[in-house]
Amino acid sequence: MNAIPSVKLIDGKATAARVLAEVREQVDTLRRGGVQPGLAVVLVGLDAASQVYVRNKVLRADEVGIRSLEQRLPSDTSQAALLDVIDRLNRDPRVNGILVQLPLPDHIDEHQVLQAISPLKDVDGFHSENVGGLAQGRDVLTPCTPSGCMRLLRDACGDLRGKHAVVIGRSNIVGKPMAALLLQADCTVTVVHSRSHDLPALCRQADILVSAVGKPRLIGADWLKPGAVVIDVGINRIDEDGRSRLVGDVDLAAALPYASAITPVPGGVGPMTIAYLMKNTLLALDLQQQAAQRERTACPSPC
Ligand code: NAD
Repeated sequence: MNAIPSVKLIDGKATAARVLAEVREQVDTLRRGGVQPGLAVVLVGLDAASQVYVRNKVLRADEVGIRSLEQRLPSDTSQAALLDVIDRLNRDPRVNGILVQLPLPDHIDEHQVLQAISPLKDVDGFHSENVGGLAQGRDVLTPCTPSGCMRLLRDACGDLRGKHAVVIGRSNIVGKPMAALLLQADCTVTVVHSRSHDLPALCRQADILVSAVGKPRLIGADWLKPGAVVIDVGINRIDEDGRSRLVGDVDLAAALPYASAITPVPGGVGPMTIAYLMKNTLLALDLQQQAAQRERTACPSPC
């Protein structure tokens, strides 16, 4: 076996705490200037996991001083009623970020709902204007999970330029935006998915391996190039030794002798997602202030 650098577990909890402390500091400064950022979280229905996610997001917002506004709607809410709520939040100056918790009930057209959110308040980065902006390398709101992964990667690797990154998974929420962000950071990017041939061989080329699949311990030792940095986005609940536990897409014990740094599950990528939601709320406020400034410059007197 090649000489392998000593393995470092990437502590997502500690990094998320640092990101949240940075956000808190910026919020304090804004509030001293009379501005309090606001985040609206919309939940339709009673999905148990979604309720936990929403509660955690609201709690975290409160902790960093962001005003949270929770909109809980019954599961039989009509498309029109939900669009009305979004329209009201788009026009509410106290709201800088709008998040609609997914999944939505089956009778709701998810795409139409996400497109209804103002791109400047779209803290999930799912609006096609932001998706397009990311593809073009413009300064836009980008999805929270891949943004959090980028922070972990920059901390672990420093300069990412020229590194070969392999992303497993091509979802709109993780895989595709992750690939776009890595490309923006000057990585050489390969995206592999359920129809790719010989995944282990493709993944063995990776200096950086990001897995967003949702299959417990899919990735074993023979998928890794020695010294690779591994970001495991997968969250999978399994029953093992008579108890229920969370594991990632990567077989951590098998990967440890090969990786130079790796995120554990839980405690790796997960905490970064909420931290970047808070960071995105501040970025949204900043983008809104820039847009208002541009409008004032274009039209100095009321017109
Ligand atoms: P998804 O189901 O939308 O996409 C999964 C992707 O994996 C697809 O593109 C598919 O082509 C690919 N895939 C499926 N089977 C494969 C296989 N055998 N080999 C290679 N590729 C395969 O899922 P998603 O929303 O992108 O989420 C992926 C995982 O990340 C899930 O476990 C999810 O729970 C987790 N997740 C975690 C966070 C977090 O905050 N940590 C956030 C979002 C998603």
